[in-house]
This record gives sequence, structure tokens and C-alpha cells, in this order.
Amino acid sequence: MSQEKPIVVVALGGHAFMRHGKGATHEEHQISAQIISDILMELIERQYNVIVTHGNGPQVGNLLIQNELSQSQVPSQPLDVLVAMTEGSLGYIMQQSLLNELKKRHISRYVVTKITQVIVDEDDQAFKNPTKPIGPFLSEGEAKRRRDELGWNVTEDSGRGWRRIVPSPLPMKVIQRHTIRDAAKQGHIVIAAGGGGIPVVKRKDDDGNTQYHGVEAVIDKDLTSALLAKQVGAELLIILTDVEQVYINYNKENQQPLGALTIEMIEKFQNDGHFAAGSMGPKISAVLNFLKDGGKRALITSPSHLREALAGMTGTHFVGKI
Ligand code: ADP
Ligand code: MG
Repeated sequence: MSQEKPIVVVALGGHAFMRHGKGATHEEHQISAQIISDILMELIERQYNVIVTHGNGPQVGNLLIQNELSQSQVPSQPLDVLVAMTEGSLGYIMQQSLLNELKKRHISRYVVTKITQVIVDEDDQAFKNPTKPIGPFLSEGEAKRRRDELGWNVTEDSGRGWRRIVPSPLPMKVIQRHTIRDAAKQGHIVIAAGGGGIPVVKRKDDDGNTQYHGVEAVIDKDLTSALLAKQVGAELLIILTDVEQVYINYNKENQQPLGALTIEMIEKFQNDGHFAAGSMGPKISAVLNFLKDGGKRALITSPSHLREALAGMTGTHFVGKI
């Protein structure tokens, strides 16, 4: 019997989908998806079973604007539903472009998108301290009205106006992990955990049965991707973003690219503050979680350098042990 192919989880940053800024049209999404799908074929050619995860920041932001503008006509949707909507819409766009790339190469594989729920802990500190700004800027009066009427948390965002803020709890468990893994093992390309997954909490109902409830929060897509990679037994976690490599002293005169790192080196640079919170920070934490949970290898690079990075010529490579 032929040996089972290793699973790779590849996480796509927002830039992979939104090359032209927030207003990106459907056509622009399609172009971005086609470019990234072509790049991902490298993983198929290298005989991996592939799971794709992706961000959704700009897309969910656009849906929140649609909510704002249409609220006098149609009911607004809660955030967990909006995340689900972006999993569906971006999943469809990726599915179609991946299928088209497979067809160009005469490769016979299926592509499937999983609407993915991710369990978070209701006691997570994040629920007491929401930090993630989402949606459009509001006037101070409007923001405070929403706070009083809808119970929103709102804050003034770096002098630019008022915004809603929501909790960003840690992902605990991917509910669909088994079906995602099984589909990947069958050789289907799986798109999952879009936007970091739909955050749900577990509660007991009156009969003592555990029930899931969607919550108004967002989960970091890099942390969820690492958790998923661990839970499906992936060999490799790839995080594609808009830098070719990770750097120390990033954006300073003495900036230096990192080629290969062990857990100890990652932790040292992390403690020295080289990885900015909210951008590279969560990616590094995700990589660390994956390696410490038994993952073998991780890679951070940009989509356009993936091929070279897989050949060991660029990118930042992370290993549990050397
Ligand atoms: P994504 O949408 O892919 O999650 P982010 O903007 O969240 O992208 O994170 C990638 C960004 O992290 C890079 O564009 C870069 O500006 C920033 N960054 C912060 N610290 C570093 C670092 N040490 N090395 C490389 N990039 C860094
Ligand atoms: Mg990010």
C-alpha cells in the first residue's frame, strides 16, 4: 500500500484575498483567489494533503457596514453569523478557483469548504476585556447609544473615531476537526476555519445537555490554524502573509531575516519583543503552540515566495528540534 500523504495546513492572510484594499470587488476577490490557488498547486504537486484556512477581517468589516446601512429595512445579523457568511462566500470563491487550477493541470481532486465552529471558553479573560475593534467608525454619540441600547463595548480608536470592540478569546477545540481531517486524508482539498472559525461556547440546558451557542467575538485565524493543524495531525503548518521572511529588528536599520529557528530561539526573540502584537505576534505564538504540541515543522513566508521557501531557499522555517 502506498504511504499516506502528510497533511499541510496553510493559513492565508487577509492580503492574499484583498490585494486592493477594503473596497475589493467580487472580481478582485476572484483574481486574488486565482493567483493564490495557482500558488497552492505547488503543495499538491509536492504530494501533500491540503487544508486551507484564511482570514476574513476586511470581508466581515464590509458585512458590518452592510448591517449598518440596511438596519432600517432588514434585521441586522450577529457577528457569529457574519463570520459564517464569510466562510461560505470566501470558501466558494476559493473552491471554484482551486477546482479551475486543478482542471488546468488535469488533476482529479475534489475541493470542499467546511463551515467551522470553534469552541472558546466562556471564562476566557477576553470576554471581560474586549480588545478587537471591528466594523465602521461611528460618532461618539452613536457609539454610546449602541452601548446603552445594545450592550456593545465601544472605544475611541487611535484618534480616528469610535468603534465597537469585541473579545478575541483563545480557540480551544475545532468541532469539525474529524471531518476536516478525514476529507483531507481522502485527498480532498479542504477549506476550513475561515476567519479563525465561528466562536461558540458550551452551556448546559435545563436537562443537563451540553448545547453550543454562537458568541459575538472573533478568534485569531493564526491561532486557530495552529490548533487545527495539531488536531488533524498535520506535519507542516504554513502561514502565508505579506513578508517573505520573519525579521528581528523589523523595520529598523539593523533588521535581519531569520532563516531557521528552534523553539528556544523563537522564545528568546519573542521575549525580546521582536514580533509585534496583532500582526507577527499571533503568528509566532501559533507556530510555538503547534511545535510544542508535537507539530514537526512550520514555515512563514509570502505567497509569491512559497515555491522557493519549500525548496529551502527563503522563508522562515521553524522546527521543534534540530
Ligand atoms: P495577515 O493578514 O497575513 O495576518 P498581518 O498584517 O496580521 O498579516 O501580519 C503580517 C505583518 O506583520 C507584516 O506585514 C509585517 O508588517 C508585520 N511584522 C511585525 N513584526 C514583524 C517581524 N518581526 N518580521 C516580519 N514582519 C513583521
Ligand atoms: Mg493578521
